[in-house]
Amino acid sequence: MNTRSEAAKKRWTNSEQREQARKCQTERWMDPELLKRHSEALCDSWKSPERKREAAEYWENGDNRIYRAGLGKKLWENIEYRTKQTAERKERWSNPEYIEKMRLVNADPVVSKKRSRIGKQLWQNPEHAKKCLHRRTPSGPEQKIIDILKSLSSELLYVGNGSYLIPGTRMNPDFVDKNKKLVIEVLGCFWHGCSKHYPDVRKQRQNTSRINKLKRLGYLVLIVWEHELKNHAKIVAKIKAFDKRR
Ligand SMILES: [Zn+2]
Repeated sequence: MNTRSEAAKKRWTNSEQREQARKCQTERWMDPELLKRHSEALCDSWKSPERKREAAEYWENGDNRIYRAGLGKKLWENIEYRTKQTAERKERWSNPEYIEKMRLVNADPVVSKKRSRIGKQLWQNPEHAKKCLHRRTPSGPEQKIIDILKSLSSELLYVGNGSYLIPGTRMNPDFVDKNKKLVIEVLGCFWHGCSKHYPDVRKQRQNTSRINKLKRLGYLVLIVWEHELKNHAKIVAKIKAFDKRR
């Protein structure tokens, strides 16, 4: 290690000096001249086709993506980071302009083509494929509902694998009948804080806000709690009645 990095390391291990250095940096970045210079330099470097190609290769490399996902997961375990991110995301997605912008981005054929290319590349990686397949399989309770709907020849389809989003939103319901605008959500007692087994006010509030959002969009919503599936005849009757409501 050279002396310069040695000195830097020493500074970094001393908390007082570290604080000082951080302050210095923050002040430096308040300087509009420096910011301008920096952003210009960055723009210039991005004009180089070499740099562009390198970056594109990096972003599209499946291994790098998986590596980054690992880093993201670690960050996500930090409660402070998670709280901040969640709040920011919520704010972004409550802005109709942002929702519209994302809708346009998602509808852009260039973007979807690129996504599908990256997706295909990712699927070459068995680790990634395994992860996704796991998520795509219906849960136990979902499978029971699938069987019931089949026996009723219902038009309600399982889309909980992410294959369908409510138009104009990011909401992926568990079951949907697009024509009749019916949605069935299957809620696990633990994950959604059912009032009988795992009462949790925060989770219940989340459930209610989700249902209300769907209702505002003109959907009829049936909630099926995991514990309700124990009484087969009762749940079949409930779903049958719901399916006939429209
Ligand atoms: Zn329950």
